Amino acid sequence: MNQPLLSVKNLSTFFHTETGVARSVDGVSFDIGAGETLGIVGESGCGKSVTALSILRLIQQPGRIEAGSRIEFEGKDLVTLDDAGMRDIRGNRISMIFQEPMSALNPVFTVGDQVAEVARVHGHGSRGDAWKRAVEMLALTGIPSPEERAKQYPHQLSGGMRQRVLIAMALMMKPALVIADEPTTALDVTIQAQILDLLKDLQAKFGTSILMITHDLGVIAETASRVLVMYGGEIVEEADVGVLFASAHHPYTEGLMNAMPQITEDRERLNVIPGTVPPPTAWPSGCRFRDRCQYAWDKCEREHPPLYQIGERHTSRCHLAVEPERRAHPHLPLVEQIGATL
Ligand code: SF4
Repeated sequence: MNQPLLSVKNLSTFFHTETGVARSVDGVSFDIGAGETLGIVGESGCGKSVTALSILRLIQQPGRIEAGSRIEFEGKDLVTLDDAGMRDIRGNRISMIFQEPMSALNPVFTVGDQVAEVARVHGHGSRGDAWKRAVEMLALTGIPSPEERAKQYPHQLSGGMRQRVLIAMALMMKPALVIADEPTTALDVTIQAQILDLLKDLQAKFGTSILMITHDLGVIAETASRVLVMYGGEIVEEADVGVLFASAHHPYTEGLMNAMPQITEDRERLNVIPGTVPPPTAWPSGCRFRDRCQYAWDKCEREHPPLYQIGERHTSRCHLAVEPERRAHPHLPLVEQIGATL
């Protein structure tokens, strides 16, 4: 990769609570190139969204980005940038698309006003110009009759239309990077596909980079070229998307793959990884996945695995990289079936 657009180095974001320190993001490093889509996948509680919010410095007390973290973007370190500099970057050079369009939009303003507001906040043009650009952006996101729709309120639009409005807001200033946090989770399957296609089209048009945060490997397969798998506040596997789907290495990634919905002739099998993500105040010693891992042995409790290099651009935080023969002795199921007959 040439000079990355965003370079995150050793990012740690902890929440200092009364019950202990929650190490929600713990030493995460990655780069995003210009025009690239990087996916971050993992279950809820693995640190994906806190990573995204840290990049935009939207972490609330008692959370904080710890010393030693660096977030380099367009020549600036976002960890130490002053508040005015950060306000100029948010919504302008880096914007965010949230999961739940209804709560991300203000119910008392028209959608046109809310899209136009993005341009006004960043001091671009008159009120009339901002409105005109808002209508153009709504048209670009495929909203029919955008002049009329711009005068409507969020509750007058469907969930898919509201998500298009949020995409219009996110792309209004033609940012270099869009962070999309579960952008299709609240939508039904057909609309999900349309929204992902729209994001890809607009990315090609504007050359924007995308950080796609999702629990759904299907969304990663559709959109990303490279993927980070997060567990326990850490990256546990990183690879190009094709490599990950062809040869996932980490047992957690294997579990996520096997938990993808599979429809057979008469059944929809719903598989889940046994157990739950532990609280971030109490990550287990050694490997943080060991309580749920079918291959865990005593070394996994004793030694915290480093990110082992297992291919040219492929890393995995699992001791199986150096003791592959251990795969012959699974002692737990990889996934549990909770499937229902269709
Ligand atoms: Fe499983 Fe051990 Fe690998 Fe962790 S290090 S994922 S417990 S085999």
